[in-house]
Amino acid sequence: LGHPVHGYYMSRDPFGEQGDFMTAPEISQIFGELVGVWCAAAWDAMGRPAQFNLVELGPGRGTLMADILKAAKVMPGFREAARIHLVEMSPILRKLQNEKLGNATWHESIASIPDGPLLLIANEFFDAIPIRQFEKRHGKWLERCVGAEGMGFMPAALDNAQGANGDVIEFGPQRSDIAREIGQRLAKHKGYALIIDYGHLQTAPGDTLQAVRAHEYVAVTDQPGESDITSHVDFEALAKAFSQGGAAVHLAITQRAFLLAMGLEHRAAILSSKADANSRDILARSVARLAGETEMGNLFKVMVATSADLPMPYPFGTP
Ligand code: SAH
Repeated sequence: LGHPVHGYYMSRDPFGEQGDFMTAPEISQIFGELVGVWCAAAWDAMGRPAQFNLVELGPGRGTLMADILKAAKVMPGFREAARIHLVEMSPILRKLQNEKLGNATWHESIASIPDGPLLLIANEFFDAIPIRQFEKRHGKWLERCVGAEGMGFMPAALDNAQGANGDVIEFGPQRSDIAREIGQRLAKHKGYALIIDYGHLQTAPGDTLQAVRAHEYVAVTDQPGESDITSHVDFEALAKAFSQGGAAVHLAITQRAFLLAMGLEHRAAILSSKADANSRDILARSVARLAGETEMGNLFKVMVATSADLPMPYPFGTP
């Protein structure tokens, strides 16, 4: 995805109907507005630091951050206190983010983000970080690899892992490294990290590697560099890594539960009352896409990691 010449993200804007896939902030402004309200409340819970790092990992077109900033205006002082730091590898997306947001600092990784209180957001970022896959064949674990001839297998030193022949297990060591580093920051500086992505609450075997082009699934080896290759996020593994870093982690909830608790239906009703019939239909469709049980609502999960001395933020831990 990040190859300087052939990387999928390096040369294109992949989002929207014309692109390859759609993300929540591109579906409706409400998504970013509700995350913005959450951020404003989180900043309040941090004791309203006069200066803090508002960090986004993989900001795409910058739509989510723009909507967060718009909605967080309900909290006086938030905007003035926020220093915006964006972790983005794609030159073309950095350019789009700059056009939309202006005053921000770009980073290759979180390592270069300055010290200080932290509010970190990542939507559909971790699914794009590479994984390793292992398959059990004839009683032995082999690593699935990609070569010039297609998929192949390499011997793996994994013989202690549980599983039956044919099982596939996935590990995201780079994902865990990033989560651990965020955890370490939250141990050192006051803050919260909100992670939103598709995935599962508990580690389980299964092949979730997928490639998407023009809104269709394609084979992962089909036209390398021309499709978005991702896999589901293992929230249990991510939670472990946050804790190892020294942060407190709360059980992830579904995107549906998060958005409904944050006022999805109220906000949609207000926007609807000002809209014409056509826009009302689009809005209703967007709400269903974001929160519908068979659409993004249950597949996507929301997790929060916090500094150990900060309260658990709403709506985590509410029934
Ligand atoms: N959050 C946005 C975009 C999600 S797509 C949205 O919801 O619309 C994934 C984003 O992560 C893109 O901006 C992509 O360029 C960025 N990205 C993927 N891998 C990355 C990496 N290793 N380092 C930095 N950015 C990365």
